[in-house]
Amino acid sequence: MDWTLACLACGATSAADGMPTVCRCGEPWVVEYPSRVPGLLDRAELRRHSGMWRFRSFLPLMPEESPVTLGEGDTPLLELQRTGERLGAPQLLLKDESVNPTGSFKSRGLSAAITRAAAAGATGFVLPTAGNAGVAASAYGARAGLPVQVFAPAWTPARLVEQMRRFGASVTLLDGHIGVCGGAAREWAAERGWNDLSTLREPYRIEGKKTLGLEIAMQLGWSLPSAVIYPAGGGTGLIGMWRAFTQLRELGWVSDEMPRLFAVQSEGCAPVVRAWEGGAEAVSAWPDPDTSAFGLRVPGPLGGRLMLRAIRESLGGAAAVSDAEMVTMAERVTREEGVDLSPEGGATLAAASHLLADGTLTAGDRIVTFNTGAGWLYRSA
Ligand SMILES: *Cc1c(COP(=O)(O)O)cnc(C)c1O
Repeated sequence: MDWTLACLACGATSAADGMPTVCRCGEPWVVEYPSRVPGLLDRAELRRHSGMWRFRSFLPLMPEESPVTLGEGDTPLLELQRTGERLGAPQLLLKDESVNPTGSFKSRGLSAAITRAAAAGATGFVLPTAGNAGVAASAYGARAGLPVQVFAPAWTPARLVEQMRRFGASVTLLDGHIGVCGGAAREWAAERGWNDLSTLREPYRIEGKKTLGLEIAMQLGWSLPSAVIYPAGGGTGLIGMWRAFTQLRELGWVSDEMPRLFAVQSEGCAPVVRAWEGGAEAVSAWPDPDTSAFGLRVPGPLGGRLMLRAIRESLGGAAAVSDAEMVTMAERVTREEGVDLSPEGGATLAAASHLLADGTLTAGDRIVTFNTGAGWLYRSA
């Protein structure tokens, strides 16, 4: 492999053989490509492939390898003219990730993670999830021809459980929160030697999510927005885009400043916002997570330090919005723009509205928001 693993917390490095987990210090690994220098000419390669794997020179894939793919990526970056006018942001954009193969942007991370684990000889996959990650893992596991075991809290929406089972996954519903499911997943992985796909317990989901940032830059003609507003659960997308923008700037593919990165969470589960507002370096667990935006119900994200660092170094911020506010905004923008917004998507626009109202962002900002998943997945069948 021509990439290595680095720990931004303790400075450790490691070869990327086999199926890596986390650094000895407990923090997630990030992937580095010291021997790759995608030059200006390599932009031609972007046209030879489609979807997120067009960026293979930025991704953990050897030239002779084929990824486990369902055509994820290449999602539209839409101008929200009416909503932008209403909020006072003439350059308001929405990356619509609901059109990914499994209805959410989890496709990107799981395509990358399952590609690597399958190449390293994985015999099965296990993960704890309350939502879209389970659907994506089930689909990509099927695509790789390998079994998937999901541990989900009993309150997981029936439609999502049904989707996972249709893709052939075995789903075990547990009485308890996501932490209980995480424990069951680790036990399962240890007993059977299956690959644990939990957020940031392996390094490649971030790499898949990195393509969000690469795609945005490409769609903007190799320039960067001035602000990015991301609905943060485990934070893979936020960390991934931070890596993407850093790598593009280092390579000279873009010359703009690093975009200001904003994390938005629900008032019912806002551990990153609380840590940010308290000036902390690490995120401590939120005691009783309560939000209907299941993508944001992550009380103790393993990538907390990395998220806070990305926010701090990019001069961004973190904001909480209520469930009522995100749902109302989602409904309104769905009618206003014809995009079926999830509550998480509504959250990014609700946060944009706050940041514009308090002057953190202005009419001169080019703002990217995200519809991370399809709205219909949340409505009962
Ligand atoms: C998982 C998810 C999120 C949060 O993504 P992270 O990478 O965990 O921060 C946001 N929205 C939706 C719809 C999701 O499924």
